[in-house]
Amino acid sequence: MKKINVQDTVNKVGQIVELYGWVDTKRDHKKIVFIDLRDRTGAVQVVGGEEFKALSEEDVVYIKGLVKKRPDKMVNQKTKTGNIEIEAKEVRVLNKTKPLPLPVNTDGHDIDEEVRLKYRYLDIRRPRMYKNLALRSKFIDLIRQHLFKQDFLEIETPILSETTPEGARDFIVPSRLQPGKFYALPQSPQQYKQLLMVGGVEKYFQIARCFRDEDPRADRAYGEFTQLDIEMSFVERIDVMNLVEGMMIDIYEKLNIPIKQKPFPVFTYDEAIKKYGADKFDLRTEEDKKNNVQAFAWVVDFPFFEKTPEGGWTFTHNPFSAPKPEFMKDLLEKKNIGKILTTQYDLVCNGYEVGGGSIRNHTPEGLKAVFEIMGLSEDEINLKFGHMIEALSYGAPPHGGIAPGIDRLLTCITGETSIREVIAMPMSSGGRTSIMKAPSVVKEEKLKELGISLRQTMKQSETQKSVFENIKNLLDVNKISYKLIEHKPVFTSEDAAKIRGSSLSLGAKALIMKADKKPIMIVVPGDKKVDTSTFKKLYQIKDLEMATREEVKTISGVEVGAVPPFGNLFKIPLYFDQTIADNKTVFFNAGSHSKSISMKGSDLEKVTKPIVGKFSK
Ligand code: ASP
Repeated sequence: MKKINVQDTVNKVGQIVELYGWVDTKRDHKKIVFIDLRDRTGAVQVVGGEEFKALSEEDVVYIKGLVKKRPDKMVNQKTKTGNIEIEAKEVRVLNKTKPLPLPVNTDGHDIDEEVRLKYRYLDIRRPRMYKNLALRSKFIDLIRQHLFKQDFLEIETPILSETTPEGARDFIVPSRLQPGKFYALPQSPQQYKQLLMVGGVEKYFQIARCFRDEDPRADRAYGEFTQLDIEMSFVERIDVMNLVEGMMIDIYEKLNIPIKQKPFPVFTYDEAIKKYGADKFDLRTEEDKKNNVQAFAWVVDFPFFEKTPEGGWTFTHNPFSAPKPEFMKDLLEKKNIGKILTTQYDLVCNGYEVGGGSIRNHTPEGLKAVFEIMGLSEDEINLKFGHMIEALSYGAPPHGGIAPGIDRLLTCITGETSIREVIAMPMSSGGRTSIMKAPSVVKEEKLKELGISLRQTMKQSETQKSVFENIKNLLDVNKISYKLIEHKPVFTSEDAAKIRGSSLSLGAKALIMKADKKPIMIVVPGDKKVDTSTFKKLYQIKDLEMATREEVKTISGVEVGAVPPFGNLFKIPLYFDQTIADNKTVFFNAGSHSKSISMKGSDLEKVTKPIVGKFSK
């Protein structure tokens, strides 16, 4: 390969180099044109003439040129290549780009996340994202180096599997060979790693993907996440804690990231609750935060069981955990259940739980007692966990492990606000994949092969199609004239106005909100906002809040940004700002990001029958 990395050009003064990359920025000074050429290692200024005029930002180019030192007063201290520039001798466009749907030479924090995820392959061109991905790769490399030095084996465990409880719902996958039966994606490799210990492996780790169908939360990765899964034989609690602590200290030293307190402070669960009111807490001062200091701590001695709302018992952390040795008798005799403490240890960093693990019940009696306390019958235990009970009865060694969360640790290190910033292609908080449109509809024949038939109400694709069809029907039946505009997908009122070539004020922005917890639709012009205090006063509402993305989807069947001003179709109360009905023409997204309709404001009012008032500002 002849390619010279941009960052290495500084060592090539006086030489001809061949560079490949993207046009990051272009500055046209008539006779001379500057571009910054970007590759994954940085950007460098290239000077050209007439031949540069045709270049656009984000074109992929080959440039052959002479590396020259910049005169002292032209040096740019802000960039690593600021003391040189390239004088172009030859330029070739390897691929011309269309205008990008989002800028990639900013940090991207202010761009709508849905758009960033839809075009994630462009979004990761921004240096901040590349830096995060490179750090992630380095972090995993250091984990491997550390554990291999200590004789661990890296072993993969199945993804198509049987359910393993970690307190979330399973993702399930239908079986074609055995119609009517399903695999579950593992919530963690917990059972497999324990079985590896029964198999005599002694020291196991895996960079493991875990799948949990939890209710979406802002600070969590929905669906799948990555953890460093570890299990060891012949260990006690302190051994696993020491291994992880030593590894973290080693890795963070190599990455030059300061750790607040070494050894990590240890709190019992009771102490943590007393002192911080929670079992995860942030030990950093404001100064620490500024200096990217990472504050680790351990929490131990959690209660093993907690009461269920029905009055039974369930595990607090992990049903496979052993109690602390002094509580083993109580566990086996099922006595003083609320007082039994588990061997569980949680690792906390900067206020987050970044990992947890325990010493396991390695005897069949111990594990069985846990399930019995949870109220499972003999049959249920055998059906769900018979394989584990049996495995433990064939000379299982004492063992324990832990699983630090890689996404969360990296979020803490980078200081990013969302875990999705350190994952290349994360799901949206609403559970949609980046770029590709999963979950998606499956063809009838495929479902048949799997022995699956969908209930009528669940035919999602049809509801989505029908939002648009229903609008059309309603307009046709009422003999209302309208214009359909098909365009590239737009996600904001501004982009919509631009692409329709209309003014922002003519767009009808349909917002799904919750008035005293009940969904309603409020429609205001694209350039206006709802004056919530006026609205509340007008309609005697105490509490008015935006519906979440997920709620919008459930209520209307379409995504935020595609919601049409037809609350009547979704059977929710509909309010129009006066200006909507007064407008000669209104434009709106007709249930799709790429379909707009324009029609008379008065006609829209006629078919949707809204409550009309003055509440925009
Ligand atoms: N299986 C646990 C989890 O995924 C970790 C462990 O106990 O090793 O949270």
